[in-house]
Amino acid sequence: MKKIALFPGSFDPFTKGHEDIVLRGVKMFDEVIIAIGVNSQKKRTFSADFMVEAITNTFKNYPTVKVICYEELTAHLAKKIGANYILRGLRNTIDFEYENTIAQANQYIYNELETVFLITAPTFSFISSTIVRELYKYGEDVSQLIPYKLP
Ligand code: ADP
Repeated sequence: MKKIALFPGSFDPFTKGHEDIVLRGVKMFDEVIIAIGVNSQKKRTFSADFMVEAITNTFKNYPTVKVICYEELTAHLAKKIGANYILRGLRNTIDFEYENTIAQANQYIYNELETVFLITAPTFSFISSTIVRELYKYGEDVSQLIPYKLP
């Protein structure tokens, strides 16, 4: 059976930390699907359309990486597209506490779903979408923190 991993997130914006998780995931799975969670009630700084294009471009040389948007439960999406793995990054214990609950809830919804955690590379562990958004808002150069150019 093909090993398909779903890498879900808000990706507002997608960062070099996320890129690192995908590049490591590519070595472990037959396919990695980056799924941008869109919530129509929640305003984004970087639009989902922009993010799809930027991420697609980032992985243009990786035929096993795909990018989609979704607005439903992650476990439902995983089942629908035949992904048996969820890929997530862990930066610290705060991530762990949060991810632990989510992973268990996902498994409750879809029993065959395994969440695989990759520990962040130290170079990227301080990077978060929140930090990038904050720096960007105040005109700081964020080009070293993201793998594509902002408009
Ligand atoms: P969410 O809103 O679902 O937490 P994010 O877009 O913030 O989504 O993050 C998606 C995933 O990427 C999460 O598993 C998060 O822990 C991981 N992640 C975020 N930043 C980094 C980083 N710098 N290095 C590795 N993983 C990261």
